[in-house]
Amino acid sequence: MTAEIAVAFPPELVRADLHDFAGYSSARTSRSRATAPVRAWLNANEGAQPNLADPEAAVRRYPEPQPPALREALARLYDVDPAQLLVSRGSDEAIDLLIRATCRPGQDTIVQSSPTFGMYAVCARLHGVAVVDVPQQETDAGFVIDVDAVAAQVQRTGARALFLTSPGNPTGSLLSPTQLQDLLERLGTEVLVVIDEAYLEFAAVDSAFRHAGRHPGLVVLRTLSKAHALAAARIGVTLAHPELIRVLARVQAPYPIAQPAAELAVRALSPDALEHTRARVAQTIDQRDRLVGLLGGLPGLRVLPGARANFVVVRCLDPDAVLDRLEESGVAVRDLRRHPGLSDAVRISVGHPGEIDLVEAALRDLDPDHHHPEVRNR
Ligand SMILES: *Cc1c(COP(=O)(O)O)cnc(C)c1O
Repeated sequence: MTAEIAVAFPPELVRADLHDFAGYSSARTSRSRATAPVRAWLNANEGAQPNLADPEAAVRRYPEPQPPALREALARLYDVDPAQLLVSRGSDEAIDLLIRATCRPGQDTIVQSSPTFGMYAVCARLHGVAVVDVPQQETDAGFVIDVDAVAAQVQRTGARALFLTSPGNPTGSLLSPTQLQDLLERLGTEVLVVIDEAYLEFAAVDSAFRHAGRHPGLVVLRTLSKAHALAAARIGVTLAHPELIRVLARVQAPYPIAQPAAELAVRALSPDALEHTRARVAQTIDQRDRLVGLLGGLPGLRVLPGARANFVVVRCLDPDAVLDRLEESGVAVRDLRRHPGLSDAVRISVGHPGEIDLVEAALRDLDPDHHHPEVRNR
């Protein structure tokens, strides 16, 4: 373990009405008075015999709420103490838990900085929490978070949580070490500072969690969905002060991690699998550079600078024509035009080399002045 858990967690960062909330007491978490070894587990109403589809009875019983082998493997991967880590159903669930643990419905506020990941606002809205958005600034180097404006809005609104994404989705750009330091110094004890690092592996920079020893309000989100290529396993990770991890575990549903998913994730964190993952990430970075190069060479397209994740954002003179071309070629991409500041933009994930060939073939002879005249004014 590297990050030291020296500082105390300020209890006021969590909803006051949850301070004495114990959460659901499940069969797994409530067993006590163990004087003799258990010979019959009859405390959870599980099926007595295996299902025909599960002859080994691998999933007959409820799973561990936080599978210990998985926690340990993730703690090694992220170089933290297991007590600093919560496993959840994707980081999407972690976002929801963080909002519910910090914000009172109908009263509290979170701050985000658009263009950004949509789940912060979705979870806030479902929980009856206001979202204050601080638009990023566009520079020659791409989108940049306006740290002064973010700090001012957090202070003005008394926000309970700040959600920032680095590398950004959909911007691809990074929060710089000085920006992060600045934010933590200014806000670290007033608000939960959540840095969503879903794409960190593709950026080759250090995790923000290295500051956790001095800033107990820092929370980092990681996931096995992107670089580890396990999106359907739904494994997300929250890194935070152990005190906050305990609160989040009480807010979480009783058995959030399906056992087959936990076992798969443990296998994906073996030394061999991790080496393979590192090689895939390196290949993705190469292919990202190739995609940037080929899109940048096409007429009517401009690549958003600062792409540090596994996708490329491209501004289009004629977005309809670009989207139609890709659609006709069977290439699905993300239309970003509803995001503030990206009304002409499309996001393309870095696929495998053959998929990038398809993008190239679809857009090769794109001429914004001659193709698809019928969609020009749509
Ligand atoms: C993809 C993504 C996530 C979701 O990750 P899951 O672990 O699959 O829920 C979280 N944050 C950002 C910014 C993402 O792009």
